Amino acid sequence: MPPKTSDRLATLFAGACHLDDPKTGAVVPPIEPATTYARDADYALRREGISYSRDGNPAYLPAETVLREAEGGAAALLFASGMAAATALFQSLVPGAHVVVPKVMYHGLRDWLKDFCPRFGVGMDTFEIGEQCSLRRTIREGKTRLVWVETPANPTWEITDIAAAAEAAHAAGAKLVVDSTVATPILTRPIEHGADIVMHSATKYLNGHSDVVAGALVFKAVDGDYEAARYQRLHGGAVLGPFEAWLLLRGMRTLHLRVLRACDSALRICHHFEHHPSIEQVRYPGLESHPGHAVARRQMSGGYGGMLSLLIKGDENAARGVATRTRLFRTATSLGGVESLIEHRATVEGPNSPVPPNLLRLSVGIEAAEDLIADLEQALGCSDAS
Ligand SMILES: *Cc1c(COP(=O)(O)O)cnc(C)c1O
Repeated sequence: MPPKTSDRLATLFAGACHLDDPKTGAVVPPIEPATTYARDADYALRREGISYSRDGNPAYLPAETVLREAEGGAAALLFASGMAAATALFQSLVPGAHVVVPKVMYHGLRDWLKDFCPRFGVGMDTFEIGEQCSLRRTIREGKTRLVWVETPANPTWEITDIAAAAEAAHAAGAKLVVDSTVATPILTRPIEHGADIVMHSATKYLNGHSDVVAGALVFKAVDGDYEAARYQRLHGGAVLGPFEAWLLLRGMRTLHLRVLRACDSALRICHHFEHHPSIEQVRYPGLESHPGHAVARRQMSGGYGGMLSLLIKGDENAARGVATRTRLFRTATSLGGVESLIEHRATVEGPNSPVPPNLLRLSVGIEAAEDLIADLEQALGCSDAS
């Protein structure tokens, strides 16, 4: 019997930097810091596409191959960050184009779009996640070029039905892009649901060790959008360094284990705190109380991710206080690393943030779930902290 998709991906990612170097026997690839490569006696490149490292480093190839195969796409591109990957798509648009983005999304990209779109003559409208008619109303037939979706979405983990969004986008002649940073290909493969492009902040789960900033795009087809994004990388120059690309490759080998572990612990933490006297609400797509649960159950496989939010009973100061009292959860931004993180999201997003003031965002790592629960309990002041 062939392995399940999630197990097939385990094999794919475990072999991410598999190399069988006939000269040295090395089982993992070397890091090549060279920026330029000498040509042979016929003035030919010794390896196709490897000539100057703004155009690509040898470490990109295995990483892009694994991501492309995991997502079921036709091509993948690594970038210097998730933001570089995302902005390459918007910078490929022409003035007069229209884009549609969700109201709840990664704040860095939302803020950048608010500045970029008016200055470059790109129209932008926002839709309510989970309301199919809101998305359909916002898309403009023949004018909208990109529909942007983030699922689960920061930091309420609202779920967008990718298949429905793809149908709506395609009916109007637009492409659907999915920021799948939180789901990773282990839990959701957007192209299988109809998406045209998948974006990742590889800084998060893909690398998984909080030591690399990187991004990736995976394309369903090698088309004009792929060529335009490749052009942006080459000439805009937001390229990943060789050491970072190598670390990313190394990190991805354990993606499967890390993601499934985080899913399991996140669900346990949610169940523990769901009816807790100090907690107003737990937001996690794996809970039946979450508005996106039914779609998540259809669209995600193997788990609901390692990200959740706790709405504390109390005000902003009370929530911030909890975040500063945790010991195992580090009080820091970012997500998807092996170590658990907690943050007061409204503080990080600043004064225009739509995030509730009592919301704490948790990135669940690979520690023992019991230890993480005990840490939160002591931070909430519900058990002896000594
Ligand atoms: C972090 C993040 C980004 C931005 O990625 P960087 O690697 O920090 O540039 C985009 N989308 C989501 C969902 C993120 O969590």
